[in-house]
Amino acid sequence: MILNIPKKITNKIRIESKRWFPKEFYTDLVGTISPKDKVLNVIGCWIPSDLDDYTSDSQVELPPHWRKESNKYAESIGGVIVGSAHSHPYSAKDTLCSPAYRLDASPSSADFESMGREIIGIVAVLENSEGKLSTTIKFYGPILKLDVKII
Ligand SMILES: [Zn+2]
Repeated sequence: MILNIPKKITNKIRIESKRWFPKEFYTDLVGTISPKDKVLNVIGCWIPSDLDDYTSDSQVELPPHWRKESNKYAESIGGVIVGSAHSHPYSAKDTLCSPAYRLDASPSSADFESMGREIIGIVAVLENSEGKLSTTIKFYGPILKLDVKII
């Protein structure tokens, strides 16, 4: 699968992720999907207007009305919801004290649980000792869910 996403959109996600620091930022991604799921073109993103009511420095709750609203928005611009992106904010203390792998822009186990058929973008927002923020953004594809039976 090829994911095409305009730099204008990744920049917007990075800027908003910094603006929401130290809270998590969240957005649904709107796109179009080619036959046979070969190419996914992101054409926009939908940011909840009431994000502040549902975000904290450790998680974003996803109220059901967000998907209703983002689906309407997606339809209005000729796409469908193809996934979402959110930030993982790390304070200066976190950044200094954590091993490098913990600061990766990688999905948490809770993120994996919710992935399914959608794509997910993770933005790691790292604060340095001078209070400056830097971002790394990565995208992950749909996953095959395993029904794990430990026998
Ligand atoms: Zn996450």
